[in-house]
Amino acid sequence: MRFSVSYRFVWNYPLIVQKTSSSRTDDIPLHHQILNPPVLGKFEKTHVFKVTTFKGLNWCELCGNFLWGFTAQGVKCEDCGMIAHTRCSEKIPNDCVPDLKYLRGVFGIELTTLLTVHNAELPFVVTKCVDEVEARGLHTEGIYRLSGFAEEIDAIKMALDKDGEKADLSMSKYANINVITGALKLYLRLLPIPLITFLVHPLLIDAMQHKNLDLRISSIIHALKSLPKPHYETLKYMINHLQRVASCSAINKMNPHNLATVFAPTLIGPPESTDALIPDLTTDILLIETLIEYCDRIFNDLRRNFNNMKE
Ligand SMILES: [Zn+2]
Ligand SMILES: [Zn+2]
Repeated sequence: MRFSVSYRFVWNYPLIVQKTSSSRTDDIPLHHQILNPPVLGKFEKTHVFKVTTFKGLNWCELCGNFLWGFTAQGVKCEDCGMIAHTRCSEKIPNDCVPDLKYLRGVFGIELTTLLTVHNAELPFVVTKCVDEVEARGLHTEGIYRLSGFAEEIDAIKMALDKDGEKADLSMSKYANINVITGALKLYLRLLPIPLITFLVHPLLIDAMQHKNLDLRISSIIHALKSLPKPHYETLKYMINHLQRVASCSAINKMNPHNLATVFAPTLIGPPESTDALIPDLTTDILLIETLIEYCDRIFNDLRRNFNNMKE
């Protein structure tokens, strides 16, 4: 992976996760309980400094002194272009704001970085592919389950990386809708941090343990609050779309369960390696199925909460 980006999330409240034994209606032996609600905070992005040999005169952006020497005089951030002495770079805060000219393509770029650079709310790969599916794929049997030709998916990836938003994904160019869905799934799979982040996934799995539906949904809503905003907005957009796909399941044969089976590994990322030959994705699939089935309740409720938080 070209970009090694790491994020540290800053909460307004500390997130305390405590293991408690369960009583009440649930008969699960243990579950996590979040005591203090986390509030969506601003993120800090680390610079990606690389030792560089500079030509001409350069100054350190931290201490203001020359970068002395002929080779490897200092470091430069791959994402924003900041220059510093190697020593000084250790003291620079995580305030990297990526610059468009340092980003190549869109596939495999961390979502928050990409949206910050493009000053966008949603990744255009997702909105463009979804537009095509909604225009001509909702009645296609096995939509998202069937895969298109790898060469064509690769061609779409290259076009989106090169031409960006202007890439032509129309019917005349790609008649087979399954290559559009293939490109969309590939984009989501290649995100360095999956849409459902590593931090939030276990919270959602815990939420799924509640037998009581209302409790399960309110716990899911609570867990989703911990997603970074770009991840939350994109997930919400995808799940709303999948609900529209599922609403045509009488024709396309893709009900929420079938869609969840396809999308669990894509939205959550590959399962941790276990001793089991075939990892158990049952809860992940049930989770995505629940998100699709109760999309309105889960995401509309959360929008209300977001608005409350802003006040
Ligand atoms: Zn930087
Ligand atoms: Zn310096």
